[in-house]
Amino acid sequence: MFENSRFVVDSRQVTPGCVFVAIKGEKTDGHFYANEAINKGAAYVVAEKKLQHIPEEKLITVNDTIEFLLSNAREKLKKHNPVVIGITGSNGKTTTKELLYQLLGKDRAFRNPGNLNTEIGLPLSILNEYNAEKFAILEMAMNKFGDIARLCQIAMPHVAILLNVGTAHRGIAGNQEMILRGKLQLIENMQKNGTAIVLYDKKLLDRISLKPMVTFGYKKGDYQLVDYCYIDFSTKAFYKTPREQLIFNLKSIWNAGQLTNISAVLAALDILGIDCNKNILENFTPVAGRFRVMNCNGIYVVDDTYNASIESFETAVETIKKLGKRSFAVVGSIKEQGKYSIETHRKLGEILEKLDGVVVYNVDNEIEIMNCSKKIFASNNATEISDFLKRILIPGDVVLFKASRSVQIEKVLQIYTEEIRC
Ligand code: ADP
Repeated sequence: MFENSRFVVDSRQVTPGCVFVAIKGEKTDGHFYANEAINKGAAYVVAEKKLQHIPEEKLITVNDTIEFLLSNAREKLKKHNPVVIGITGSNGKTTTKELLYQLLGKDRAFRNPGNLNTEIGLPLSILNEYNAEKFAILEMAMNKFGDIARLCQIAMPHVAILLNVGTAHRGIAGNQEMILRGKLQLIENMQKNGTAIVLYDKKLLDRISLKPMVTFGYKKGDYQLVDYCYIDFSTKAFYKTPREQLIFNLKSIWNAGQLTNISAVLAALDILGIDCNKNILENFTPVAGRFRVMNCNGIYVVDDTYNASIESFETAVETIKKLGKRSFAVVGSIKEQGKYSIETHRKLGEILEKLDGVVVYNVDNEIEIMNCSKKIFASNNATEISDFLKRILIPGDVVLFKASRSVQIEKVLQIYTEEIRC
């Protein structure tokens, strides 16, 4: 019935002939916008209840509209039966997914784009964009326990990549144990003959026994990042796999976490029986906002504005210290930490002690608890921060911009890079 239909959940994106799926969210309820969707030409409204003013022939009522999306996505994939590669972890999912996607090639691989990695975004992207490709790379995010198992209902992975388990979103997901158990659901919900690719981390390995598994890590595991260094504006990285030793000269600067994740990609390619195209890998540029380093008149400007967790801050700080003569960071809060917020921001202060100067973009007061002797400036005004940076930074310095998504620290980055004409 819905073959070739476009599905939307936001009435502003309705185009004639599409299917509008009304979802009750935390902030608003899609059912309020059903009329608007019909007026804009939606062919059908899928809703959880009868709705006035919607012609009966255009209304499809179901018990659960999210389940409707999930099951339609499942049916679509089942028809084409792709090789499914599931990716989850606290850090690095997007970059790992994009890299694997490039290496498998757009003609034969699908991936859920951007951050369409939730129980709504993932099925939507499959319904709207999957085009019978041989490989389906599915990035799966976990906000709360059970999310990953639900996403695996769409398609059980043949290859399951578990990148790492950290503290991101722990205010929502619960304690460390719940985050760990939640992410392990990717392995538990694999195909029977599937293979898991897991970070060589004792807390993970102790919990996985049954499945065929390969490991990856920094100086550890079957697929290893052995070492790396920065030369001018590129990264030289050394890898060891069960078959060979590899050296890559990567365009741009990659941090240790991202480099480690490349070893998971090498493992996936081996399992899929596909050669690694060195040229594509070496020319891949990290995704905007995810530790992308720019050379701005001799100053290394690190755009890591997309998100933040303690672990990704640790990695970022370690890396920028290797890069510039003096290292600075413009930082904002780490959100979604709930009762762990104080502990998280204290820890952040300790991590930032390693730098030469810390500038705080304080838009929500949550970061005020952070105690760091390297703090040299704080403001909630992006232009003020940019002016300050212009006064202190000189060629050879490195400056990291990093905070959780909702802080929108990219505003500061944008003003600063515009003003220095980068
Ligand atoms: P996700 O989609 O999981 O949020 P991204 O690819 O967007 O992942 O990267 C998010 C952040 O995590 C970036 O700052 C990136 O540099 C960092 N990161 C990537 N891999 C790791 C890792 N293995 N350990 C720590 N930080 C990492």
